[in-house]
Parts: sequence; structure tokens; C-alpha cells
Amino acid sequence: MSEPFISKKDEMKNTKEERYFEKVIKHLYNTVFKFSKDASGECIFTLSEGRIAEKMGMTTTALHDKSVKEVFPEDVATLIHKTCEEAFKGSNHSFEIKLDEYYFLVYLSPIIENNQIIEVVGTAIDITDRKLAEEKIKNLAFHDSLTELPNRRLLEQHVNELIKESNSSSFGILFLDINRFKYINDTFGHSFGDKLLITISNRIKNMFKKDVIYRQGGDEFIILLPKMNRREIKETAEQIIAVMQNSLSIDNEEIITTVSIGGALYPDDGDSVEILLKHADAAMYYAKRRGDNKFQFFSKNLNINSRNKFKMEKDLRKAIKYNQFELFYQPQVNIDSGEIVGVEALLRWKHPDLGYISPNKFIPVAEETELIVPIGHWVLETACQQHMNWLDKGFSVDRMSVNVSQLQFNQPDFVKSVQEILFRCNLSGGSLEFEITESVMADFPQAERVIHQLNELGIKISIDDFGTGYSSLSYLSRLPIHKLKIDQSFLSPLNKSNKAIIKSIIGLADNLQLEIVAEGVETKEHVAFLSEQNCKLVQGYYFSKPLPVEKEEELFMKQKS
Ligand code: C2E
Ligand code: MG
Ligand code: MG
Repeated sequence: MSEPFISKKDEMKNTKEERYFEKVIKHLYNTVFKFSKDASGECIFTLSEGRIAEKMGMTTTALHDKSVKEVFPEDVATLIHKTCEEAFKGSNHSFEIKLDEYYFLVYLSPIIENNQIIEVVGTAIDITDRKLAEEKIKNLAFHDSLTELPNRRLLEQHVNELIKESNSSSFGILFLDINRFKYINDTFGHSFGDKLLITISNRIKNMFKKDVIYRQGGDEFIILLPKMNRREIKETAEQIIAVMQNSLSIDNEEIITTVSIGGALYPDDGDSVEILLKHADAAMYYAKRRGDNKFQFFSKNLNINSRNKFKMEKDLRKAIKYNQFELFYQPQVNIDSGEIVGVEALLRWKHPDLGYISPNKFIPVAEETELIVPIGHWVLETACQQHMNWLDKGFSVDRMSVNVSQLQFNQPDFVKSVQEILFRCNLSGGSLEFEITESVMADFPQAERVIHQLNELGIKISIDDFGTGYSSLSYLSRLPIHKLKIDQSFLSPLNKSNKAIIKSIIGLADNLQLEIVAEGVETKEHVAFLSEQNCKLVQGYYFSKPLPVEKEEELFMKQKS
């Protein structure tokens, strides 16, 4: 059967049998070929037939007597030549090559005659369809389907390659997070959110010559910066932030997004992909806390454990779903009469495994993750219902104070949602007081607008933790603020300089005709000093800790009697 393939020259194919086989192989879809060796030992073609060979212009007529190196590009030629040499030593081989747009699975085997290898015969099977399907699957596994960016899995591979190749040259990882993305998604809809993610990823992509951006998931992107030092990484992050400040137009909406970026440098900030990412992520959270459009490099002093934070975020989402929040109420008392004039609603989280968690621990996480918005909404609704319930029971609590975080306050539908809650609870705005911090004033036009609108609803505004935040106090005379709450840090320790600060805050409040309340009042000494300064409203452990509803009601009963 092998006779026709070992005929010395094609011109000699004169037997009927040879012509028959020639016809058969010409009609095969895949390629059949043969190599022999020329005088100088080069592998040269003696046969190449099949429909695909014809399609590619690689039939015997074109290739006869040509060496592998003359026919194929260098990398393919080297592989075929090497394998052909092996086959000439007597072994069978198979391998895959790519030629033009085709992929082939190639088999080579020696033709042995009289114990001598006289030629090597092979087939090249077209596996293009299979390869393309494979590539598609691979592409799906390593790319994000929305932005078409490489995903975290590919990033890990690339970082590992960089670490292997680095020869001690440094590289950087940036962790980028879009601020308030969830809010944009909720307000404008998911398809808008998707378009935003694509636009942002393209913007960043266009800043670089090579593919350096990966989608980590959600609104988080990673940027890998090979061969960069600390200064270059910082400059690049700042360029990204600058580019982000140009407004985007999506579905005829002009929006400006802000980002927070954390950076980590190899090898200083970590020697594995996991550690580098963890540190860049921790730095990003730190940047986020500092405000919008900030970059932060990882440093060992960043006291954020992002793993704990992630766990807490997950648990917080569950807390909303499974009603793990409660409100405690702390009275605000008139020193002279001992009368409870109002209560402050303070959030408590009863974690199923960890018990009560302090708001100082979980509120910052809720703010970073924007979960404070639904949580704050729950707080307001619950406090209003409770207030109504107390009024129904005949407890005359003048005012319910609710803490409103900056992010919640800045939601475009904040005032509307307040109105709806008041309506549902059948409550007038006059019985509500919002405690905001001075940080809200950083966006003055927004603060001004919202405070005026709340004022129209009759809601009073109290500045919480006064004296610890914003430096300019001009807002106090420009906005309808009702009350200042002297931060508790000024009472402990109650030393000379703190006394001076308290005195001047009280003087300022007097001047501007603002109410004043001192918080963190724990001792007789505190009460005496505040009373002396004519600060009549106080809140603190000296009178009562924040209490659950039933205990608070006991206090009201006592007062009534
Ligand atoms: P804040 O609004 O300044 O609340 C006063 C904090 O001081 C409360 O801590 C209260 O329990 C505590 N406190 C009251 N009297 C005394 C005292 O005599 N001595 C001392 N050492 N502390 C006293 P809490 O409940 O742990 O809340 C901490 C912070 O968490 C609050 O500070 C507020 O900023 C935030 N927070 C609490 N509930 C909410 C809420 O519903 N929404 C938002 N956005 N923030 C909240
Ligand atoms: Mg407060
Ligand atoms: Mg406070």
C-alpha cells in the first residue's frame, strides 16, 4: 500500500495504481505530505496534497524540493524541522501549528524500507474550528463579558509572569473603585450602569499603549503597571484621576464620576499576587475615606484589615435582610429641670455570632460600601414610627434626633424620602432633628439646598461632634442651623484648654442664637461646669445611657410620675 508514497519522483507516477492514489489524496480534505532529505541533509518536500493544501497554495507543484525553511515562517519551520529530524531517527510525532488563519494537528512518521528510513510521511489535519471554540472558551474564562477586559484570573497569571520575569525590577498594581456606583445603578438603571462601566474602562484603556486594565468585578478595576517605580505609579494614578474628572455622556445624561485608587509596589508591598492585591485594595479603601478622587499608596501603617472589612460588608448586607438592627434611644436632658426634652436615636447591630457591634466600627464600613443609604433609611423610618408610637402612648418627647451620614444626606432623593416617611408615619417635620457633621459642608451648595428644603419641612438641623471637623465656620451664619452639639472629646479630659474651647463654642452659639447641647456628660463635675457656662442641655451617661425602647419608656414613666 505504501508503494506510491515512496516512488522516487512524481514524474514517474505512471502506474494505474499510483494515479488512483494521487486522485484519492488530492480529494482528501486534510493534507498528506512527505519529506526526504537532500544532499545537504535538509528536509525537503516531495509531496503535499489535499484540498486544504490546494486552498493554501501548498500543493506538490508549489513545494516540490523546497526545504521546510523555505516554505514556512521561522517559528513554524523550526518546529517542523526539529520534529522531522526526530522522525528521521525513527519515532512518531504529533504537534499543533498555526498557519495563516488555520490551525493544524500534524502527525509525522518514518517510512522504513529494508531497515532504513527513507522518507518521513505526515498528515496535517485542519483543527481550526476546534481551536477557535477552545479560544472562545478560554477567552470567556479569562475575560469579562461586559467590558471585554481581561479578568482577575488573567491578572493573576500576568502578575505571576511578571514576578517570574522581573529580575528584581519593580512593578505596580492599582486598585480602582468607582465612587457611588451603586447609587448610579439604582438611580439610572442597570443598563446605564453597564454603559458607564464600559465607558470608564475604555477611557482608562485608551490612556495606555498596552492592555494593562483588568476588571476585578463590580465597579472595581485593576491596572497593572510593569517596570514602574513608586513615583511613576503615583503619577500614573494621578493621570487616571485627572482623566476621570472629564464628564461622561451616557444616554444623553452628563455625569461626572469620581474614583478612589489604591496602589501597591512589587516587591516592597508584597511578593505575591494575593498580597499585592490585598494591599492595593486596603490602600484604595483608605483613599476612599479621604474623599473622592484620591490616590493612596499602601503602607504598613494603614490600619485597615480589608479581609475583616469584606466580611463585615457581607454581614452588613445580611443584617439589613435579616433585621439585625435595633435603635437605642438616649435622652437629652435639661440640667435645671431634669426634664427629657428629646432623644437621640442610636443604631445598634446585634450580630448573630459577635453580639452587639459598636456603630463606630460598622458605620465607617457601611459608609464606604454605601450601605449606609439603605441603613439610614431604615433608621429614619424606625425612629419616626417610634416617635409616633410614643406620642400615641402619651409620652411628650419634644424631639427625635436622628444621625444622618454625609452620603445619605447627599442622595438626590433624600428630601423626598424624608417627606414620604413623615407622611407614612403621620408625623410633622417639627418633631424631627437631623444630626449632621461638619463634613457635609464640604459641598456647600448641596448642603445649602438640602438644609433649606429640610427647613421648609420644619426639620431642625443640629451639627454633631461640633469643633472636630470643618475649619470654616461661615456656614453657621449662612444656613438655618438650629443646634450645635459639643463633641464629647472636649469633656474628657475637662482640662484648661478644653474648658476654653467649650466656653468659646458656647459663646459662638449664643452669638448666633443657636441651641447648644453637650454630649458625653459623665460626671458631676461636667454638669457643674456646663451649668456654670449656661449650657442647659446635656446628653450623657451621667443621666442615662442609650436605652432600648422598653427601658426608655420606663424612664418616661418615671418622669411622668
Ligand atoms: P454620636 O452621634 O456623636 O453619638 C454619641 C455617641 O456617644 C453614641 O455612641 C453614644 O452612645 C455615646 N455616648 C453618649 N453618652 C456618652 C457618655 O456619657 N460617655 C461616652 N463615652 N459616650 C457617650 P454610639 O451609639 O456608639 O454611636 C457612635 C456614633 O455612631 C455616633 O456618634 C454617630 O456618629 C454614629 N451613629 C450612631 N447611630 C447612627 C445612625 O443611625 N446613623 C448614622 N449615620 N450614624 C450613627
Ligand atoms: Mg449624634
Ligand atoms: Mg456626637
